[in-house]
Amino acid sequence: MNTAANANLFSRLFDGLNDTSRLAIEKADGTRISYGDLIALSGRVANVIVARGVKPGDRVAAQTEKSVEALVLYLATVRAGAVYLPLNTAYTLNELDYFIGDAEPSLIVCDPSKADGITALAAKVHARVETLDSDGKGSLSDAAANTSTDFTTVPRAGDDLAAILYTSGTTGRSKGAMLTHDNLASNSLSLVEYWRFTKDDVLIHALPIYHTHGLFVASNVTLFSRAAMIFLPKLDPELMIKLMNRATVMMGVPTFYTRLLQSPNLSKDSTKHMRLFVSGSAPLLAETHREWSARTGHAVLERYGMTETNMNTSNPYDGDRVPGAVGFPLPGVSVRVTDPETGKELARDTIGMIEVKGPNVFKGYWRMPEKTKEELRADGFFITGDLGKIDERGYVHIIGRGKDLVISGGFNVYPKEVENEIDAIAGVVESAVIGVPHADFGEGVTAVVVGDRKTPLDEAQVLHALDGRLAKFKMPKRVIFVDDLPRNTMGKVQKNVLRESYKDIYKK
Ligand code: AMP
Repeated sequence: MNTAANANLFSRLFDGLNDTSRLAIEKADGTRISYGDLIALSGRVANVIVARGVKPGDRVAAQTEKSVEALVLYLATVRAGAVYLPLNTAYTLNELDYFIGDAEPSLIVCDPSKADGITALAAKVHARVETLDSDGKGSLSDAAANTSTDFTTVPRAGDDLAAILYTSGTTGRSKGAMLTHDNLASNSLSLVEYWRFTKDDVLIHALPIYHTHGLFVASNVTLFSRAAMIFLPKLDPELMIKLMNRATVMMGVPTFYTRLLQSPNLSKDSTKHMRLFVSGSAPLLAETHREWSARTGHAVLERYGMTETNMNTSNPYDGDRVPGAVGFPLPGVSVRVTDPETGKELARDTIGMIEVKGPNVFKGYWRMPEKTKEELRADGFFITGDLGKIDERGYVHIIGRGKDLVISGGFNVYPKEVENEIDAIAGVVESAVIGVPHADFGEGVTAVVVGDRKTPLDEAQVLHALDGRLAKFKMPKRVIFVDDLPRNTMGKVQKNVLRESYKDIYKK
């Protein structure tokens, strides 16, 4: 699979590039960065980080706002044979203390506003600190400006680490997922083909780049295709709709789609230049999928992946993009559904644990051999923690995280099944069903509901509407109304936050 002389992802991305003048990235202010510029800039930054003592295999941690320079830091780190470690910009110093202590980077790049606090943490692991702000300015760029663009890409084996991404850690400590050069290259190349990327594509890139979606899926796929991306610091519905008249692809989390749908400017006409809309990182409601099709004439292509595995499944480019399903395993990826207790493979259409295997699957958790052993089976399948099924046509469906399963009175209640029924009630926008400690039942099925603020709706009406549609043991014991569900930046509903907020409601 690796045709470059060197298995380093950087070589695979750029060796053999003919036309260095091609546009790679356009900034929101219109500045244009060619492929040649990107390679030259990465050479400068690679020289700086090596001068700061970064050796092949060392970790370079980055907590930086989104900028082209931050993406260059990723490319330069990989080019230098080091391991890129992006950190969510929302992490506080207290949280960073854990990540820095665990990963022991030799260099940390952060926003100038955090430099003092981070320098104190860095001292504990003898790391150097450089700064980079949201405009791409800071000590890193200053040093790079005075450095040569020449840099010989450090040879790496396919199995060497290119990046460590920490999982969000909603239960227990965040774990560092170790991703190899082969993991990243194989997955991107497979997506380029599956989603028919070519050099003529222009991607609207409004995702954060500390997460697998914006960093690997969006950026690597674009760069492997020699396509261009328009780099926006964040979701900006009106600007994005305007850009759609010269872009061809958008990748987003479900929140992008719901927010864009709120604009009267989204239409068949405003999206007629686009060829593909991709959604992932959290479930896209079937209703959002249908609304989007009706309004724009485009069927959103939903795919499923995670930090540890890159992308696993995708709806087809040609053929049915089924609302509520995440499609078929990507070429070279195997997906199976197993009994969570016994690990035995289950029949089609039966809900169980989703397991995946392929060149996309990570090497293990950083310095957590026990956790790695628990979640990676001897035959190479990774236990994802997601419950789902494979239907008769081979489409994979995600039912939810295993840890979100509610066990009430000894019965398994799949929150999604209850949420689907609640969402179908007139006046409900969305809902989240959680298990909350309950003296008699172990966990009480609890529904948290967002109404449309127009239709009067109370607990009794919701329960009445569900009566006869759900078995008694699946019926919510309480229905709570809220204005919004708590979500993280990737659009995932934070059920752990809800469980914490309502943990005492059944206490007498
Ligand atoms: P992360 O590691 O932050 O990318 O989160 C991965 C998790 O997001 C998966 O294990 C799933 O639970 C969820 N996820 C990703 N894509 C989808 C999708 N298309 N539908 C439902 N859940 C998804």
